[in-house]
Amino acid sequence: MVRAAVLSAPGEALRLAELDLPEPGPGQVRVRIAATGVCHSDLSLAKGTLRQAMPVVLGHESAGTVVSVGDGVTRIRPGDRVVLCWAPPCGACWFCAEGEPWLCAHSSDAAAKPYATVDGEPVHPGLSTGGFAEETVVSERAVLPVPDAVPLEHAALVGCAVMTGVGAVLKTARVRAGQSVLVVGLGGVGLSVVQGARLAGAGRILVVDRSPDKLELARSMGATDALEAGGELPKQVRALTERRGVDHAFDCVGLADTIRACWSSTRRGGVTTVLGIGSKEQQVTFSALELFHFARVLQASVYGSTDPSIDIPTVLEHAAAGRLDLGALVGETVGLDGIAGAFEAMERGQGARTLVVP
Ligand SMILES: [Zn+2]
Ligand SMILES: [Zn+2]
Repeated sequence: MVRAAVLSAPGEALRLAELDLPEPGPGQVRVRIAATGVCHSDLSLAKGTLRQAMPVVLGHESAGTVVSVGDGVTRIRPGDRVVLCWAPPCGACWFCAEGEPWLCAHSSDAAAKPYATVDGEPVHPGLSTGGFAEETVVSERAVLPVPDAVPLEHAALVGCAVMTGVGAVLKTARVRAGQSVLVVGLGGVGLSVVQGARLAGAGRILVVDRSPDKLELARSMGATDALEAGGELPKQVRALTERRGVDHAFDCVGLADTIRACWSSTRRGGVTTVLGIGSKEQQVTFSALELFHFARVLQASVYGSTDPSIDIPTVLEHAAAGRLDLGALVGETVGLDGIAGAFEAMERGQGARTLVVP
């Protein structure tokens, strides 16, 4: 039995429960969770904006130590320090064969099947991970080793926010040295975009958020210009970019208004990359004339367009070498009973990434 925070239905409160977690089957590993970041997607899953089979143990941004392995697992051993990946590509579907493993047709299959029970009732692993628990069982494809120089508490954030944000800059948008970048929304993903932009050698890095504290945090990570939310963004941006607009904008919010403001803040031919996961009620509109005239690009980035088996080790290398400051992304640390409070702070837009240490 291990302790876990269980959600029975969308909108309900999380409850602490004893999870009956079976030993790992063939191709699976059991991991003792060191830390799990509280991601905005957990909140969306808890509220029902994003769908997930229930009851569920949420939490998908985790790192920990391997406790035991199932039959046929040779790449990973008990005692290994690992980061968990919530979207492990199958390596065999059409998208994987095309070299687009972030769009794998089977990467979220595990989330649809129960992996444990509470009082005899089947429970699902949130986004295939189940990180808000003392231990979990996942596919061996979902774990990657963490170098000794990187603390597990920092490595946890690589599993979602950092791969999404840094990947969006380096892999999806392919920002070049000297280019100007706008980042709207400074949660764990937005701050990772800022760090990715610095890593790419971006020239100006403009940031927007409603929290002055987060703007300050972004400045300490390399942002050059902080803009408070609520102003006329495209105008503010043009005033700072020789009236052209930025080369790249990153929407890390997922609202129609922020996506539209990003698009209008880019230069002619500029690129907007959407990382925020919005709801289907959010409709973004463009006139046919402006689409042609501005020749701008609008694209989405799923998991930073990354291949976890290649890009997670690369990002961890950057962290080990000090080129990424993962520690700066970490805010409060709470126990399994502190997740509800972390959700509330997140809705208010406060604080850096909260870490749950079971
Ligand atoms: Zn996430
Ligand atoms: Zn696949």
